[in-house]
Amino acid sequence: MDRNTQLDRLGDSGEVWDVIVIGGGATGLATALDAASRGYRTVLLEQADFAEGTSSKSTKLIHGGVRYLRNGEIGLVRESLRERGRLLKNASGLVEPLPFVVPAYRWYERMFYGTGLTIYDGLAGDLGIGRTRHPGAAETKRRVPNLRRKGLHGGTLYWDAQFDDAALALAMARTAVAQGAVVLNHVRVTGLIKEQGRVAGVEAKTRFKGRELVLRSRVVVNATGVFTDEIRRLDEPEAEESVRPSQGIHLVLDKRFLGGGTAVMIPKTEDGRVLFLIPWKDRLLLGTTDTEGVENSLHPRPLAEEIDYLIRHAALYLDEKPSHDDIRAVFAGLRPLAKPPRRKPGAASTASLSRSHVLYSSESGLVTMTGGKWTTCRQMGEEAVDRAAQVGGLPARPSLTADLTLLVPEEGEESEALDPNLPYQMHQIDRAVREEMAMTLDDVLSRRTRSSFLDEAATRRCSPKVAARMAALLGRDERWIREELAAFAIDC
Ligand SMILES: Cc1cc2nc3c(=O)[nH]c(=O)nc-3n(C[C@H](O)[C@H](O)[C@H](O)COP(=O)(O)OP(=O)(O)OC[C@H]3O[C@@H](n4cnc5c(N)ncnc54)[C@H](O)[C@@H]3O)c2cc1C
Repeated sequence: MDRNTQLDRLGDSGEVWDVIVIGGGATGLATALDAASRGYRTVLLEQADFAEGTSSKSTKLIHGGVRYLRNGEIGLVRESLRERGRLLKNASGLVEPLPFVVPAYRWYERMFYGTGLTIYDGLAGDLGIGRTRHPGAAETKRRVPNLRRKGLHGGTLYWDAQFDDAALALAMARTAVAQGAVVLNHVRVTGLIKEQGRVAGVEAKTRFKGRELVLRSRVVVNATGVFTDEIRRLDEPEAEESVRPSQGIHLVLDKRFLGGGTAVMIPKTEDGRVLFLIPWKDRLLLGTTDTEGVENSLHPRPLAEEIDYLIRHAALYLDEKPSHDDIRAVFAGLRPLAKPPRRKPGAASTASLSRSHVLYSSESGLVTMTGGKWTTCRQMGEEAVDRAAQVGGLPARPSLTADLTLLVPEEGEESEALDPNLPYQMHQIDRAVREEMAMTLDDVLSRRTRSSFLDEAATRRCSPKVAARMAALLGRDERWIREELAAFAIDC
């Protein structure tokens, strides 16, 4: 994936593409991949980096969603479990099975959760990963050595899957390019072209050289997550709000606070939320929260009370209790929850709003896909392209993504470590710049590697060396290095 080649392929403004996708998160990438693999001439434009929005800040689970089962959303759970099975097959090496334990501190909990999770197994059918069972206290403690011993009756063990969200996004971008799409990061859509009342393309601007682009297409798909309404208002200035952001944060702690390779799911904290403690890249991922009333932002800030909440609640379930000093990294993301059409007074907090997606097209033919989750993005892409083909009058062709294998890069030769506390090496920086369209220090340290998500202090330590290497590869000067280091320090 060479960025200049991708830019050159856009050609002059006279060409008419079949589909232009705005947004390079899970939804946009899945849509572009679906469209390109059907043979539609496809362009995807992302204003920042691939997955720089919500899609790099998830809990990193490909799951049916036990919480949705609790809410009785059987259809959503079944769809998610089917997509989980597809991802395990199509993105093997990027999406891996993960055992979870629901600890039981009351005698009836094993039976209660066991029943629900057996239904979960049943809904997965042939695509199930492993059977739910009920380990006793000794096995539960062996699997999660730091789990609170006092009062532990045992647990319910079930299976789901986990992944690296930014890596999966990149695999989707790489595969879309291999299928013929033009896929570009750091290109912002600034306007919609309209002809005779119909959306007929986009105006866009490249971030670094400020090059203005005018691209025509038969149909445009808006897949901009929490920014959905900004694009809709380029089409219909009076469009009502359709997406409600809800912030979720995660803390990254040393893995000793879990102690093993089994994740813990707390289905109901004292205030009724779900809490996950997940082994991820040799760390513990602890999350999440659900905070309403936050501003839309590409880089939302974790709130002090959210951090306190997670530390306090994790301590309830662990023998060695983490403190604020044990936090190695924090990240926050905004859920693009599809807003219910009209909110009754006092109704639905975001925790009970459905994660299922919403697809619609405007009178002028702008197709919008919002909501959903990483797990179901392939299905969302398929539905968005079905609709886009209809709206744009494209020849009907079936989706091929259910069985499409995603391209994963090969491991490179061993090289110098970025830092003793990070699992990355310098050759990965070279690959990120040369083959993966990384343009900024943040692209490399947050998404091509997950350094800043794993250890903020170690990332700060290695950032001058990484910036210098990037500058050499990109032909940049000392000033660029200084500016990148300053911008990265602000972003982190
Ligand atoms: C805390 C949290 C935990 C989650 N955990 C999970 C999980 O474990 N499993 C799961 O399945 N799902 C999970 N989700 C849900 C999942 O992460 C989201 O549903 C998904 O990432 C949304 O992807 P998206 O592409 O719609 O939005 P985004 O990832 O936000 O992508 C939209 C993109 O549009 C771009 N954009 C905006 N305006 C423009 C413009 N004018 N021009 C060009 N580009 C533009 C943005 O820069 C952004 O990159 C979680 C979500 C949160 C918040």
